[in-house]
Amino acid sequence: MSENRVVQGRMVTAKSLAELIEGESVMEAEAITEADRDCPDCGGSVLEVGYMPSVTAFVTGRKCQDCDWREVERD
Ligand SMILES: [Zn+2]
Repeated sequence: MSENRVVQGRMVTAKSLAELIEGESVMEAEAITEADRDCPDCGGSVLEVGYMPSVTAFVTGRKCQDCDWREVERD
């Protein structure tokens, strides 16, 4: 059901992409979508994934498919 994407040459699921952005394990992740912006570092495509690093938090993470750039929006 979940759609895999390639990030920096590696296949990721929504959950493993969220863990790549967060730097540690996450509880749940929503489906991966394309962010409507390009990477500020290399101009590559940016993927977006909403996830829960813990039961009480929900954040939106973004990660470039081609380089190490990533950002997290915590509300
Ligand atoms: Zn990039």
